Amino acid sequence: MLGIDLSGKRAFVAGISDDQGYGWAIARALAQAGASICLGTWPPTLRILTKSLERDRLDRSLPGGGEMEFEKIYPFDAAFDTAEDVPEEVRGRKRYKDLDGYAIQEVADQLRDDFGEPCLDVVVHSLANSPEVQNALLETSREGYLSAVGTSAYSLVSLVQRFGPLMREGAAVVSLTYLASERVIPGYGGGMSSAKAALESDTRTLAYEAGRKWGIRVNTISAGPLASRAARAIGKIDRMVEYYEANAALSECNTAADVGHAAAFLCSPLGAGITGTTVYVDKGYHAMGMVTEPVLEEEG
Ligand code: NAD
Repeated sequence: MLGIDLSGKRAFVAGISDDQGYGWAIARALAQAGASICLGTWPPTLRILTKSLERDRLDRSLPGGGEMEFEKIYPFDAAFDTAEDVPEEVRGRKRYKDLDGYAIQEVADQLRDDFGEPCLDVVVHSLANSPEVQNALLETSREGYLSAVGTSAYSLVSLVQRFGPLMREGAAVVSLTYLASERVIPGYGGGMSSAKAALESDTRTLAYEAGRKWGIRVNTISAGPLASRAARAIGKIDRMVEYYEANAALSECNTAADVGHAAAFLCSPLGAGITGTTVYVDKGYHAMGMVTEPVLEEEG
């Protein structure tokens, strides 16, 4: 039987704060395939995650039996490449002041100390942030735009740069993108559409550069809408989910597990020939050029 087997492999998943988002679904699929999982969690949400885990409030069950365990959870802030990049003001914030070692290079160094080099087979980038996401692009400041692109797109470049030496031959990186990179999605503001366009372009260039340098693969998944914590901050997510259900090629709800399974496949030896690609996991919504007839009929 042809199956996804990641036993003996280690994954680092960046961008998990609860069990509602794509990162959790990807971690779960990787764990189900046998990988051990380390997490990188944003300091402002780290306590929420650890408390929820301690109180057993998150669904760690694995289809087929067993529970997802985390080998280690690292504080991880994708906005900073090195310790020197962290401003004093951020160091002093409530959620940061008792932590250190959360810049991307520092987390790479801790992984090396904890597990040796090389130690990673899968790296997942499932995070995005824009301080002005509620603003139309036309109303977005330079600072807000650069922050969105820095945290949501450059972070992938930095992650591949700094984690590349830790990755074993044949290892894979996967990130999450959205259709707003190439089509207009009203409301996806603050420079987030620009960040996703950069992320997809960088996926191609990183696939070539990191492929030649370390023999690793880099892909991104363009996912359909999901009512995660981040998506709720953007707003109108329930309406978007309904719109996709009504208009995608498949009239089913897009699920986080669909994305988890696709990521596990891409990062497994079964995906060995796939790199530099944007893979759509959106029930075929991206292929549509016109809304479906029932919707046209409803709207008369
Ligand atoms: P989520 O809230 O589960 O994940 C977003 C994560 O980003 C959170 O855990 C948050 O703590 C983390 N984060 C924010 N700023 C960070 C920083 N500076 N450093 C490190 N982590 C940081 O929401 P999600 O919707 O599952 O988002 C995961 C990915 O999926 C994102 O890239 C998002 O753009 C993408 N995506 C989401 C949808 C959707 O509809 N939910 C659709 C397509 C793509």
